[in-house]
Amino acid sequence: MRRTVYGEDHEDFRKTLRAFIETEVVPFHDEWFAAGIVPRELYTKMAELGLFGIRVPEEYGGAGIDSHKFEAIQYEETARAGVTFGGSGVHVLLALPYILMLATEEQKQRYLPNFVAAEEMWALAMTEPGTGSDLAGMRSTAKRTAEGTYILNGAKTFITGGVHADRVIVAARTSPATAEDRRHGISLFAVNTHSEGYSIGRKLDKLGLRTSDTAELSFVDVEIPAEDLLGEEGRGFYYLGTNLASERWGIAHGAYAQAEAAVRFAHDYVLQRQVFGQPVAAFQNTKFELAACKAEVDAAQAVADRALEALDNHDLTPAEAASAKLFCTEVAHRVIDRCLQLHGGYGFMNEYPIAKLYADNRVNRIYGGTSEIMKTIIAKDMGL
Ligand SMILES: Cc1cc2nc3c(=O)[nH]c(=O)nc-3n(C[C@H](O)[C@H](O)[C@H](O)COP(=O)(O)OP(=O)(O)OC[C@H]3O[C@@H](n4cnc5c(N)ncnc54)[C@H](O)[C@@H]3O)c2cc1C
Repeated sequence: MRRTVYGEDHEDFRKTLRAFIETEVVPFHDEWFAAGIVPRELYTKMAELGLFGIRVPEEYGGAGIDSHKFEAIQYEETARAGVTFGGSGVHVLLALPYILMLATEEQKQRYLPNFVAAEEMWALAMTEPGTGSDLAGMRSTAKRTAEGTYILNGAKTFITGGVHADRVIVAARTSPATAEDRRHGISLFAVNTHSEGYSIGRKLDKLGLRTSDTAELSFVDVEIPAEDLLGEEGRGFYYLGTNLASERWGIAHGAYAQAEAAVRFAHDYVLQRQVFGQPVAAFQNTKFELAACKAEVDAAQAVADRALEALDNHDLTPAEAASAKLFCTEVAHRVIDRCLQLHGGYGFMNEYPIAKLYADNRVNRIYGGTSEIMKTIIAKDMGL
């Protein structure tokens, strides 16, 4: 089926990005994989290419393009090359929507030029050691002082980009939950990570996404100036709910792209690997497996593309985003596993891209809300 989401501009961008990945990422990726983090200079180079400013209005140094299609191409091209851009996905996919939606004019002028130039890298901290799926259960507090600043205390975990970040959007309670509404009283702050009392704990040792810096954070009496409150005090849960749809589309699209890359890796592998005197591709099982995977990937592409169009039209609903995430990530899980199987033992070796894809993809069904939470959202939307 002919794809209709991209035009000539997008395909030109794809070529530029592919060349960038080949020269600036592929040669160093094994080293970054072993180190468990990408160097900060990668982000500077990505900024020079304009990757962080695509959706940022021109007056703050961006390109002012109100579309996620260029991000979608980044997911497709990194998956195709079997690499990642470290933890930088959260900078644009997770943090930027909050700045664009909530920041005042003064905040935009202060935050966005540095955001675009990668002078300040951003992350988003919702999850806590005691609560992930149940965000309303968060315990970090930000108490307002008589001078109007806020004092932040608490801890966050699993924060992608947490080591490199200069600003983290932290969700914390500014007032206790009420008996009627557990979601009440959560606020969002753009916390400067160089503040006193802010510390980065362990960089977590993960099964996959080895190049992204996922960290624990802790806050002891961190003073946040009032001008770093994002949006209205107490409306944080609502803001989180609104922006999670774009995050979930991003995970859905990334998962589809990984599944497509897996089929390509397996296709190439089975043609050259000889078993019992013939290529693995000669077995009917191989053909059937890859054909079934291809059909699933085609369906995931259609879902991801449709969600992308809806997102760009600003009418992707939370339930539709949940549905796209559930479908694409579950497809990717099945497809990548089957493609790895076709590699035999080599598929288990990290030097083969399918092994890294297998490990990297696993978290897609967990973060941004688990598959079970996606089902809960969809069922609620069905009136169940
Ligand atoms: C690599 C990685 C990167 C991450 N990056 C970030 C980040 O940048 N920022 C951030 O804030 N968070 C981040 N997270 C956190 C992530 O969003 C959470 O891990 C996720 O939401 C699940 O929360 P949890 O781990 O506490 O699992 P839990 O909530 O403890 O869930 C455990 C199990 O219970 C199930 N469950 C929970 N509630 C229900 C229910 N109502 N019905 C049925 N089953 C249920 C879950 O589906 C799961 O199977 C990241 C996580 C990982 C692993």
